[in-house]
Amino acid sequence: MPRDTGSLLVTNIGELVTNVPGTGAGGPLGLRRNAAVLVEDGQVAWVGPARDAPAADRRIDADGAAVLPGFVDSHAHLVFAGDRAAEFAARMAGQPYTGGGIRTTVGATRAAPDDELRATVARLRGEALRQGTTTIEIKSGYGLTVADEARSLRIAAEFTEDTTFLGAHVVPAEYADRPDDYVGMVCGPMLAAAAPYARWIDVFCERGAFDVDHARAILACGQAVGLGVRVHANQLGPGPGVQLGVELGAASVDHCTHLSDADVDALASTTTDWVSGPETTTVATLLPGAEFSTRSPYPDARRLLDAGVTVALATDCNPGSSYTSSMPFCIALAVREMRMTPAEAVWAATAGGARALRRDDVGVLRPGARADLIVLDAPSHLHLAYRPGVPLIRHVLHNGVMP
Ligand SMILES: [Zn+2]
Repeated sequence: MPRDTGSLLVTNIGELVTNVPGTGAGGPLGLRRNAAVLVEDGQVAWVGPARDAPAADRRIDADGAAVLPGFVDSHAHLVFAGDRAAEFAARMAGQPYTGGGIRTTVGATRAAPDDELRATVARLRGEALRQGTTTIEIKSGYGLTVADEARSLRIAAEFTEDTTFLGAHVVPAEYADRPDDYVGMVCGPMLAAAAPYARWIDVFCERGAFDVDHARAILACGQAVGLGVRVHANQLGPGPGVQLGVELGAASVDHCTHLSDADVDALASTTTDWVSGPETTTVATLLPGAEFSTRSPYPDARRLLDAGVTVALATDCNPGSSYTSSMPFCIALAVREMRMTPAEAVWAATAGGARALRRDDVGVLRPGARADLIVLDAPSHLHLAYRPGVPLIRHVLHNGVMP
């Protein structure tokens, strides 16, 4: 990661979102007015009133604008080839989404040379960064052979620390008649080849993908070699994925579109206070770009929040069901379509994403945190939902430097 030398002061911040509860105006966003942030060696060194700011080698004048922690996109599928624009057009003309198009991308990905895959990840990572995303998780899952999953993760690891092995995305066509054999391969040689490049393991636990017994077996194999657990769960219909994730201590269950009361209760029972010990919360990560792009009903974020569940927002960036890298777009959808308040949505897109990745160094602006922050072209975080589709990111600092 690039590091800058010398200190940098971001000052004249009209509204600073710290995500440090109890700070300034209080609330989970920890809002401060007329603030400044000092950055040294890629980290936040000091946060306080602009009038008390220490001297620095350089400064950025926010001129009264809002400053937030960089967005933490905890769910993205960036290693692929080809696009599925025609499938999107067909869906918008009335065809339902079934997840079957994943196999189209698998064929294109297997046929692509490394450099083509790397260029796609670089393009999408750059696109996300310009829109304020300073931390991104990247999954494999379009290779589905030992060699193609391993190279997908090797390429992903060039761009992020948060890489996720998703060999259990779908059962590939050549194993269609013998899913047990495919699960055995995922748990055996594929996991062995993928694990050196992966921090997490994930399964698409859904009718038409992997059932609960297969999902449990695969996730347990990943845990046994030290990978953290995440689950694609309850996207297309009700199912056991969310409760499986809670049972296994998953950091996050993602989608959560079709939930029973027992699912919500199970998630709420995991909510812990991050400060008091090791993180054990299973976060519900909502991916409204998928519902937007498949014209499907949105998850009931209000029900989750009112039950005390920790909620994150992420893009699910992928070529089939959610081809957006924009966290501001997801915030706007969450507010307009899922009844989250603007504050809840901003928290979910920053601190929530960090908790879904079990990280305490991002999604927050306090001394010692990574100096990842965005300066908006707006006086308040409210504008992210209030002005949908408008490029409001004026500056991005990533590891204390402007990329
Ligand atoms: Zn996904």
